[in-house]
Amino acid sequence: MTLQKNLDRAANLKFPGQAVIDGKLVGAKSGKTFDNIGPRDGKVANQAAACEAADIDAAVRAARAAFEDGRWRNKHPREKKKVMFRLAELMERDLEELALLETLDMGKPISDTRSVDIPTAINSIRWYGEALDKVYGEVATTPAERLSFVVREPLGVVGAIVPWNFPLHMACWKVAPALATGNSIVLKPAEQSPSTALKLGELALEAGVPPGVLNVVPGFGDTAGQALARHMDVDLIAFTGSGEVGRKLMAYAGESNLKRVALELGGKSPQIVFADAENLDEAAEAAAWGIFFNQGEICNAASRLLVEAPIKDAFLKKVIEKSAKYAPGDPLDPASVAGAIVSEGQMQRVLGYVEKAQQEGASLALGGKRVRAESGGYYVEPTVFDRVDNQHTLAREEVFGPVLGVIAFKDEDEAVRVANDTVYGLASGLWTGNVSRAHRVSRKLRAGLVWINGWDACDITVPFGGAKQSGFGRDRSLHAMEKYTELKGISITYKP
Ligand code: NDP
Repeated sequence: MTLQKNLDRAANLKFPGQAVIDGKLVGAKSGKTFDNIGPRDGKVANQAAACEAADIDAAVRAARAAFEDGRWRNKHPREKKKVMFRLAELMERDLEELALLETLDMGKPISDTRSVDIPTAINSIRWYGEALDKVYGEVATTPAERLSFVVREPLGVVGAIVPWNFPLHMACWKVAPALATGNSIVLKPAEQSPSTALKLGELALEAGVPPGVLNVVPGFGDTAGQALARHMDVDLIAFTGSGEVGRKLMAYAGESNLKRVALELGGKSPQIVFADAENLDEAAEAAAWGIFFNQGEICNAASRLLVEAPIKDAFLKKVIEKSAKYAPGDPLDPASVAGAIVSEGQMQRVLGYVEKAQQEGASLALGGKRVRAESGGYYVEPTVFDRVDNQHTLAREEVFGPVLGVIAFKDEDEAVRVANDTVYGLASGLWTGNVSRAHRVSRKLRAGLVWINGWDACDITVPFGGAKQSGFGRDRSLHAMEKYTELKGISITYKP
């Protein structure tokens, strides 16, 4: 695939723009649409339905009706599995189209959407399809005259609200376990990236997911998103996004029907490099990849690099060398390793953090500017700040862009203290050749994930989620199925 081929394909691409509600493709009841702007060139790619409370209500009613009549949850597990496998096959059939939609909506390089985003989403659907009849209940150790079963039942209607940084991948982290456990779903994609979620809704119908079971409703957060989270007939909001919206969702739940809320929020994840690390080249590669992959728009971005003082200068030099390949290019060019920032607003936000870091006294070691402005798109250079203090705004707030802060530390205790001195607790990492230190430090880090001598060692089999203000509830692994189910105890009393 060449850049020219991708440009030709993009010119002929049909963007899905209608909501998927109760098995039908529909516009918003109000007739309103919104501009889906492509960050690659800042141009409007298409119009998507601007759904609001009335559309959300229609989707929730359809989801509830589908749940109550059992058209999905009571299907034979073998049949459900077949449908989920079929969905995975259809996504594979349309992989190139999905990858192109994702790249154009979000600005990430086509090589990543083809090899990471879409395959990972497909893997989630298939993995939970395989798992759906492998998780079952218990028989409790009750006295002789009683037999008690502990069963897991689907919650009912799940509202999934997802962000724009990995649009289909995040959607499938929620849709796959929710479907596998027999729920009905109303999925609200982010306004910046509605296309692949809408396409997922269409493919699910083609695969045989019954109407009403997976509804996809595009719209804005404070209208469609809020209506979903305040709806009296939604049982769970499964969310990935900012802490600010996470807080609102908890309030909406409290002010409505006390629905459950699961939050996967942001991070300020530390990657700690000790002088005794065995391979400093690999560590430097991971430091650059950890912050510059996906333009730094990752909840678990390694945005704080903690380096033991004696090796800090030499290590920083290596990181800067490794950063060169993340210079942003055209997202449709298969050779690009980094692409555009998702929106003009997000780019300005990132540049605002760059300015603030300089004002607060950090020293700019690389990048710091908007580039490729002539394209009309939103591109920021890989940016590295040295001499960052952990109290600087850059070390405390989530930038969600390609900006790394380097902090020197003097010993292990200080490294752990600085790493944990944050309101977040999503991911963390350390590089050391000392096995005792690796165990010791990993147990002291307050985070949902610790990666030793590697970064982002993600796998569907390992739960993903955070401690502290990075949220609660887990995506991925069999544990993710817990949040989409309720435990029920059923006891039979009999004469022994
Ligand atoms: P948000 O948290 O605002 O958006 C995430 C999702 O929540 C979107 O679908 C959004 O809809 C929806 N939403 C927004 N407001 C509400 C609401 N009141 N009720 C219900 N749903 C709502 O993230 P942003 O896109 O604004 O990004 C801002 C910052 O958030 C980033 O700079 C980054 O720091 C962080 N972030 C973290 C992510 C993560 O993976 N942890 C992912 C994305 C952002 P819509 O977009 O349509 O408004």
